[in-house]
Amino acid sequence: MADELKGLVFNIQKFSIQDGPGIRTTVFMKGCSLKCPWCSNPEGMRSVSEIITNDRRCILCKKCAEACPVNAISIADSARTIDWSHCTNCLECARVCPSHSIEVVGKYMTVEDVFKVVARDVPFYRNTGGGVSVSGGEPLQQWQWVLGLFKTCKQAGFHTSLDTTGYCKWEHMRRVLEYVDLILFDVKHMDSAMCKEKCGVGNALILENLEKAAKMCTIWLRIPLIPNYNDSETNMRLIAELASRTMVDKVSLLPYHEYGKQKYSSLGRAYCFNGMAILNPDDQTVTRSKGLLESYGLEVSVGS
Ligand code: SF4
Ligand code: SF4
Repeated sequence: MADELKGLVFNIQKFSIQDGPGIRTTVFMKGCSLKCPWCSNPEGMRSVSEIITNDRRCILCKKCAEACPVNAISIADSARTIDWSHCTNCLECARVCPSHSIEVVGKYMTVEDVFKVVARDVPFYRNTGGGVSVSGGEPLQQWQWVLGLFKTCKQAGFHTSLDTTGYCKWEHMRRVLEYVDLILFDVKHMDSAMCKEKCGVGNALILENLEKAAKMCTIWLRIPLIPNYNDSETNMRLIAELASRTMVDKVSLLPYHEYGKQKYSSLGRAYCFNGMAILNPDDQTVTRSKGLLESYGLEVSVGS
């Protein structure tokens, strides 16, 4: 049964106002098939628990170095260093670290565990028209667990929203959507080759799922606005035509930022997207893209 499954969750964020209407609690699922280099939640990419570091918290006690079975940790020159190329992700260092300088990101939880947390905020949902959102990573990689959570939330009368890349089997999405009020559907690029170049997968399945989902559920289309990648007039017009055809309620433009950059080094990974112009909501690129989408009669928001 779905409620006996455990889902790999990397965060439960309270008082979220960006994942649907009102005040919401957002559950972040770990694991994603896409590899978008601008991702601001890199800790959601891998489908396993892993270590994440915070150097400033280290008290140089050496416990992690003593516990590491492959000697990947050294303490020298008043700093703790990890040789990530040798790390086998055994998580032992996080278990012994007394100061939370090394922690595990990603915890297996039952639907019941998570429901207990999200149910604490019922007054906020009721007073603001909010509810429970599931994001990621790609939540539908763990579709059976997500189905169980949404089912439980709907039984409790909560509004539900799903933030998805759309890259999943239609049958899985269809089953989950029976318990979803709103989908936040990400579209990165209308050109499949361009989508594959940056995100690792083409867009055919994503667009096919969007067309089908639009017949079942309210959709807010989400477009990460990446300078010199997907901000051309041609791409924006194709997005506008798609949004009009599928009759989405809203298009959200999410201007490129680097809020997640620091997390990459904390996970032992390189941030490969340096050198891009960071966009502010009033930048010319944003204004032009917003205006173009609005010229198709679409409701457009920036940043959420
Ligand atoms: S997670 Fe990596 S660094 Fe930490 S103890 Fe295990 S092998 Fe060593
Ligand atoms: S166990 Fe934690 S506090 Fe101690 S040296 Fe390692 S990272 Fe630093």
